[in-house]
Amino acid sequence: IRVTFTPIHRREIGIVGTIAVLQDVTEQEKLEASRREFVANVSHELRTPLTTIKSYTEALEDGAMQDAELGPKFASVIQNQTERMIRLVTDLLHLSRLDSKESELRKRPTQVVDMLEEVTDRFSFQMQEKGIKPSLSIGDGVGMIWIDRDQIDQVLDNLISNALKYTPEGGTISLEARNADDGMLAISVEDNGMGIPKKDQERIFERFYRVDKARSRNMGGTGLGLSIAREIVKAHGGSIWLQSEVGKGTKVIFTLPQQEQGGRMT
Ligand code: ADP
Repeated sequence: IRVTFTPIHRREIGIVGTIAVLQDVTEQEKLEASRREFVANVSHELRTPLTTIKSYTEALEDGAMQDAELGPKFASVIQNQTERMIRLVTDLLHLSRLDSKESELRKRPTQVVDMLEEVTDRFSFQMQEKGIKPSLSIGDGVGMIWIDRDQIDQVLDNLISNALKYTPEGGTISLEARNADDGMLAISVEDNGMGIPKKDQERIFERFYRVDKARSRNMGGTGLGLSIAREIVKAHGGSIWLQSEVGKGTKVIFTLPQQEQGGRMT
């Protein structure tokens, strides 16, 4: 707490009183510290691919370009790193739009089954490649919901691509939608992959927080997927959390209000 005293002067009388201002600076300082950490993280995440690109272009210039084997290999490294930076910047822009509340939700009535079937279809090729079997379960009474479909698709894409990244070949990914007790719709994405250690579970929705930085990067991760998912779910008035056990798997659950506030479902 910061305390500032300001004396109150009256002409000819002098000091007649004091104003004491008590300010809670801990919250402010925490905010400032997390902002600094965020900027440091962004800089580091951008610097790493840039350094790689720089050294590989130098190697190409120094003769690797003429090498029939090295030339294309180095070019593909440069391409991969560039794509990684594009992914990162795209995620950052999305987050900053969500932060500034600039992107108003464009809610439309959406059929939950269709949405979940379509997201499974989007990933069917990657799942097949890894021999992963998807399963889909829809609870009784689950029908239409009023949501910003593009944004919720992004949440589902992030959760399923994580399940795919952190689940070994031959695993399973299960999607479920059911009506929760509190009148919300609960959607979950469950895998039987590597799981998340208890000590990391609390921080996993923070920006850039990852269990294993190197593994996440190798998998093409930006470390922002879960934080974007959390912002989108929050903007819809829902919440998101996970249950996970190392070596057994992870289940991420998010809820969405069933009815548009003040609106009517058709
Ligand atoms: P990333 O781009 O690194 O996947 P996310 O924000 O999506 O970033 O996830 C943060 C971290 O949470 C990941 O790096 C990983 O350590 C962990 N994680 C997320 N989903 C899963 C999952 N299904 N299984 C195991 N670990 C996961």
